[in-house]
Parts: sequence; structure tokens; C-alpha cells
Amino acid sequence: MLVDSHCHLNFPDLVARLPEVLANMQAAQVTHAMVIGVAMPEYPAVLALAEAHANLFATVGVHPDSQEAEVPSEDELVVLAEHPRVVGIGETGLDYHWCKGDLDWQHARFRRHIRAARRAGLPLVIHTRESALDTLRIMREEKAGEAGGVMHCFTESWEVAEAALDLGFYISLSGIVTFKNARQIHEVAQKVPLDRLLVETDSPYLAPVPYRGKTNEPAFVRHVAEHIASLRGITLEEVATATTENYFRLFAKAGAQRG
Ligand SMILES: [Zn+2]
Ligand SMILES: [Zn+2]
Repeated sequence: MLVDSHCHLNFPDLVARLPEVLANMQAAQVTHAMVIGVAMPEYPAVLALAEAHANLFATVGVHPDSQEAEVPSEDELVVLAEHPRVVGIGETGLDYHWCKGDLDWQHARFRRHIRAARRAGLPLVIHTRESALDTLRIMREEKAGEAGGVMHCFTESWEVAEAALDLGFYISLSGIVTFKNARQIHEVAQKVPLDRLLVETDSPYLAPVPYRGKTNEPAFVRHVAEHIASLRGITLEEVATATTENYFRLFAKAGAQRG
């Protein structure tokens, strides 16, 4: 069994064919998936998926890519996190690829999510793009390690992975690990301790080989896990067992509802 720790099932390409997407998961032995909140107007749809399907969990948060986005207060995030199907806070973090200039607003939004996660006692789902040093600095300053969490769709160096691991965080690898030229990610895939590794699709984006360029979906997390297994010289079953146990240990609120 496998868990897709990060997907956007509520996005149009996936939700339009939801029964097929869920059937494909089952056929690929992808037993669970976590649907990630990115914007408040879409949040009811994220939560509805997790309420309607026992094998889907939700997170609440606002992505760092849009300054105009509506962001709940820290208190509001804590209240939203009380919902039984909400098992994490995010995705949050920093993104210097899509946003340039004065990014105080982005830093403040990230700090707010970390504070809410600590108060709610839920792990963080952290997005970092071209911003690793500031992401780590803010994580340390805000004691993100007290909430714990995952560095999702990890694309940074092994040194950055080590720093996140030192803070108690897990590392989640996406379909990028299947790309031939992603040498830095291959190194991370080989070195991350097996008990701190998660797998994800970030679907509908970033389809793994052999579906590169197509619409990604949670079932394809199997290809991510297969590729990691081959890079580490272990079996798919070992990667699947470890990453599934890791997911339910980290997202303990999901673990309590695993059934
Ligand atoms: Zn992200
Ligand atoms: Zn995402």
C-alpha cells in the first residue's frame, strides 16, 4: 500500500473524473491521499472530498504564490484545523520563483501558518522554491520543529534536506525524482533516512515518467516509489511500507482514523 501525501484532487482536471481517479488509486494499491489546501475560496471543495471519502484527508492553508489571496488569521486557522478531517496545516512556505521584490507579506503569511500549526498541534506542509535559506531561517525562528511536518515536493540540495531533517522534518519526493537529469534529487532520494521519507504526486502537476507531460494523478505515486526503490537498491514494498508508516506517524490525526 502507498499514500500520496500531497495532491490537488479538487483541481478541475482531476475532480471532473473523480470516480476514475479513485478507481485508479485502488488498482495501483494507493490506499490514501492527502488533498492540500491552497486558497480559501477552494477550501470547501478540499474539505468536501475528505468528508465524502474515508481514504482522503485534508489540510488547510494558503499557498505563498499570490499576494492578493485571502488569508485567515492565526486564530481562524486554529479553528479550521479542529475539523476531524483536517490533519495538517499548509501548504505554506516561501516561493521566490513566482514572487519577486519585497516579500515581507510572504514571510508574515508563513510565520502565521507556523504559529497556527504549533497551537493546533498539527504538522506543517511546507513549500519552498528558490527560497531555501529563508525558509529554514523562518522555520528556526518560529520553532516549526515543535509542530513538525514535511518539506513537500523537495527539489533542494542534500545540505538543505539535512537541515530540515535536523529540525525534525520529513522529506517528500514527487515525480521529479523520476526525471533523468534530476541528479540532486536522486542524491537526496538515496540519502534520506528511510524512516523520514514520504512520497507524493503534487497532481495534477509533475507527472512522473512514463506519464511526463500528461495530467498527473494519485495512482502515479507508485512510479515515484518504484524509482526511489531502484535508486536505493531496495524493493518497492520496502519503500511503500516505510513511507506509509511515516505518513501515518507524522500525520497522526490521519493515523487515528486509518481504519
Ligand atoms: Zn507546493
Ligand atoms: Zn501542492
